[in-house]
Amino acid sequence: MYRTHDCNSLRKTDIGKQVMLAGWVHVSRDHGGVIFIDLRDREGLTQVVFRPEENAEVAKQAHTLRSEDVIQVIGKVAARVPGTENPKLVTGDIEVVPSELHILNRADDLPFQLDTEIHNEDLRLTYRYFDLRRPQFARNLRLRHKATKATRDFLDGEGFVEVETPILSKSTPEGARDFLVPSRLVPGKFYALPQAPQQYKQLLMVAGVEKYFQIAKCFRDEDLRADRQPEFTQIDIEASFVEPDDIYALTEGMLASVFKAARGIEIKTPFDRLTYREAVGRFGSDKPDRRFGMELVDLGEDFKASSFKVFRGALDSGGVVKAINAKGFASLTIGQSDELTEIAKNFGAKGLAFIKVEGGEWKSPIVKFFSDAEKAALQSKLRVEEGDLILFAADKWAIATEVLGRIRLRISEVQKLVVDSDQLDFLWVTDFPLLQWSAEDNKWNAVHHPFTRPKAEDMPLLEAKKFGEIRAEAYDVVLNGVEIGGGSLRIHEPDLQDKMFEVLGINAQDRQSMFGHLLKAFKLGAPPHGGIALGLDRLVMLICGEDSIRDVMAFPKNNRGMDLMSQSPAEVDPKQLRELSIKPAAADVRGQSGKESPPKT
Ligand code: ASP
Repeated sequence: MYRTHDCNSLRKTDIGKQVMLAGWVHVSRDHGGVIFIDLRDREGLTQVVFRPEENAEVAKQAHTLRSEDVIQVIGKVAARVPGTENPKLVTGDIEVVPSELHILNRADDLPFQLDTEIHNEDLRLTYRYFDLRRPQFARNLRLRHKATKATRDFLDGEGFVEVETPILSKSTPEGARDFLVPSRLVPGKFYALPQAPQQYKQLLMVAGVEKYFQIAKCFRDEDLRADRQPEFTQIDIEASFVEPDDIYALTEGMLASVFKAARGIEIKTPFDRLTYREAVGRFGSDKPDRRFGMELVDLGEDFKASSFKVFRGALDSGGVVKAINAKGFASLTIGQSDELTEIAKNFGAKGLAFIKVEGGEWKSPIVKFFSDAEKAALQSKLRVEEGDLILFAADKWAIATEVLGRIRLRISEVQKLVVDSDQLDFLWVTDFPLLQWSAEDNKWNAVHHPFTRPKAEDMPLLEAKKFGEIRAEAYDVVLNGVEIGGGSLRIHEPDLQDKMFEVLGINAQDRQSMFGHLLKAFKLGAPPHGGIALGLDRLVMLICGEDSIRDVMAFPKNNRGMDLMSQSPAEVDPKQLRELSIKPAAADVRGQSGKESPPKT
């Protein structure tokens, strides 16, 4: 037996008890021969005192202890000397006076100190198992467990069945790049790791499962950002005979029980809903952060006959004129205004027009082009006051909204407009466009994925080939400006699905070779169905108040997709490659034979 208590449980009422504790030496202090150890386990800290006059042998041993040694102590709980209690610790009234010390394992020189902030991310990831001893991670991993458990419990209560789907699956052309796994038994062929269990969950609906979920690992070979990882986890859900309202209610109930279980927070349901057009039109984003105002105001009506060419020109060519009012930001620096102009240009605007309201004057080179009526419209629609900064975008709807949306977010950071960090603003964004023209691919792409259902009332637009105008039965759930999940009602009719693949530019032969199984399944009695997937990592990140999903994953990859701890990806034995019928790339062969590569031509 190693222990009778954990390091967070002894109190005054335990004084006099004989106890056993085990854990890590958190810190060790030598006060004139008396050794004080903060003994740590995952629950907390308990002070252990070794006094030479009480037990010289044990105190001598304690002298050799260093941070992160693993020890067991057996001894008595005693009151701390009056005046030395630590009110910050729940165990701060007591200490343990050991009669025995067992050193279970020594720690070598430490790669870094756990109680200091280390900015070298690569070093921390190399020693991830060590870094994970920080209380922040212990807490995050537990919150993640609680969130996952609450999810499972809630969905179980709603009659959902957790079904595992294959990790070795098939590559399909939509979405991100696949991770491929070569097959040994079928030389020259490859599995793909699932980007999401989308097709499997739909096939489970054909199978009559009706209510499916999975805490599912997904893999996407993308360039990484702070909130992206090559492998991540989704709460994946699919149900038959449902409408969007059913998915909304289910997701809201699930999120309510997750926040309750993990943080003890009651969240307000049902969530507000905004259509995609409203969200982008008002906030310049399909994942609007509504915790501050600064909404986009439409000025199309007011400037349609304007003599200011820039605005008039945008409107005449079917675009929009929109503006935001950054209250009290007229005093921005030149550096800040350059940065905002840079943002505008990066997102497709030709420049950024703005008015500073200072000393009762509207300061801007464009004001002289405005009529009195136009000024009056600006004044009343934007509620212009002393100190305000009015920023304009006149362009195509998509560009003008995105530019102002990005600027709005940047200004909110600079002005620190989100004051209540505990505020949770959930909402649904609905009615996404079904298809988007890709100039790069020279074809229509699915905005969500190829299995998403067009809205019934927009079906005629499909026939009329007005692809850009079709709305989808697709929805995202957003929390504080972060998309935490998305889903859709699906196509369940084989003909419509085949038609959709055709619109996406997949030829008849490829449709059969890539999606034949799905089309065949839909011919055997497929129920209407729909679902959603929520990013568990992002959700837990928000629950924990972290900025990066790496902080809520036990063993994340770094921003080059590497596991620095195990040094993966790594080279493999040439024999393994031969078994997989894989020839090393020419460059490697040259490298191995030591020959120089031929000069570039
Ligand atoms: N499979 C989709 C995704 O991963 C979500 C869904 O439609 O359920 O984005």
